[in-house]
Formats: sequence, C-alpha cells, structure tokens
Amino acid sequence: MNKSIAVSKDLDKIIKDIAGVARILWEQGWADSNAGNISFNVTEHVPEDIRELNRFPIGEIDKGYPELSGYSFFITGAGTRMRDMARQPSENACILRIAEKSNRYHCIWGKSSESGFKPTSEIHCHLSIHRFLLEKKTAQKVIIHAHPEELTALTLIKEYRKESKLNRLLWSMNPAAKIIIQKGVGLVPYFVPGSDELARATLKAIKKHDVILWEKHGCLAIGADVLETFDQVDILNKAARTFFACKSAGIDPEGLSDAQLAEIGRLFSRKK
Ligand SMILES: [Zn+2]
Repeated sequence: MNKSIAVSKDLDKIIKDIAGVARILWEQGWADSNAGNISFNVTEHVPEDIRELNRFPIGEIDKGYPELSGYSFFITGAGTRMRDMARQPSENACILRIAEKSNRYHCIWGKSSESGFKPTSEIHCHLSIHRFLLEKKTAQKVIIHAHPEELTALTLIKEYRKESKLNRLLWSMNPAAKIIIQKGVGLVPYFVPGSDELARATLKAIKKHDVILWEKHGCLAIGADVLETFDQVDILNKAARTFFACKSAGIDPEGLSDAQLAEIGRLFSRKK
C-alpha cells in the first residue's frame, strides 16, 4: 500500500528549496555532522482530506499540540545530516500530520516512524513556534536552525551578549543587515540543546524578532519561504564575518555611523 501522499508541484518546489538550502548550510560549514534542522508548515500544500489516514505509520511526541491537530509539517530528522538531506530529502525528513490525539502524528511523506525515524530533537521548539505563527496568522511558515560560524562566534564574546550592542554591531557592518533585519536579532541565553527551557526562551524571543541567536550554539530564523529565511542568516553572518575580517587584520572596524544607520532606517522602514 502506498505510504506517501501524492506530491503536488508546489510541495515538490518547497522540498527542492529545502534540499538546496541544506546543501548551502553544509557547504558553508554551518551544519556540522547532524547539526541544524528545518521545518515548514506545508498544510496548504497537502490534501485536506487524506483518505485512509490510518494507512500511514504513526509516531509519537512526548507532548501534545491540540491546536496543531490536522496541520502538516515538513521536518528534518533527528541525527540526520544536512549533506544527506541535500541529496535525499525523503530519506532524511518527513511530512508529519498531527493526529487528533495531538501527541501523535502520521508520517504522510518521506521517512517514517516504522524505520525508527524521529523528527529533530528540537521538535518542541519548532512546533511551539509554528503554533505561535498560526495564532498570529502570519505568512511565516519556515523555521531554519543552523550553526553559522561567525554569528555564533559573536555570542562567545561577553561584550556582545547584550542585544542592543550586538545589533548595533551587526547593522553597522552590513547595510543589508539594517535594511532586511529591521527588528534586529534576539539573543537567547545558553540552555541545553533540545531542552524545554531553550524552546520556551526561543518562543518568547521570536515574538519580537525573526532571527534569534542561541548563545554559544547557533541561530534560528523564521520566514515566509525557505530562501528568504536563509538569506536573513546569510546577511547577518556576512556582517559578523566582516567584523572578524577587520579584527584579524588588526583593525577596529569603524562601521556605519549612527547617522548612516538612521538614514537607512528612515528610507527603508516598513511595518511588519
Ligand atoms: Zn544546533
């Protein structure tokens, strides 16, 4: 019996975009070993009424999400590698549809619970953010977590573990950072990876920002599509990389002045 839904053109494009970004994350060195995870609320791209839902393998989460019953999410697997995800998405991720009993899900595409597959260990972080994005009725449906090197390195420097100082630095190193990431990054203090505390603190921070830095760990970004979400991380990491390039040349970078940043703010401000 067929254990996968038919993949529409739209969904196929989404999966290809995710695979493309997985490749970049790996090539940039931002997804070492099995690091990084991606999820996408694909509900509108899967059939609303899936016939014979029970033919799909069932998996379990250790917490229920009643508000997400009936919603479907593309999600990368625990212990899977982005470099493999780039080549074979269906072997390294699944689309899960949250069941009526909301701590259960059906694997409707990709790798299934039958073969021991589990979604990323950051699943609570992903699902609680998706729940918030649905409540907010926003177009944002994608979550990417990765370990961009220079951005993460900034969180190792005590001086920059202050949100205002960190954002001032990132904006001043790359005009695109000020133009695109207008809300700045949110800084979440260190918590054990995969922990409830990390998920809770991230959810709090995502209410004010589209990109979060996890102190001494990595970053998490949300967006409307996969490439746009990745771009935010890329732009911010470029800012951090520019800072370190100056530092390694023995220069204290001057960066954009307050007046120059204010000018960008005036010219490009938008309501989100
Ligand atoms: Zn991580």
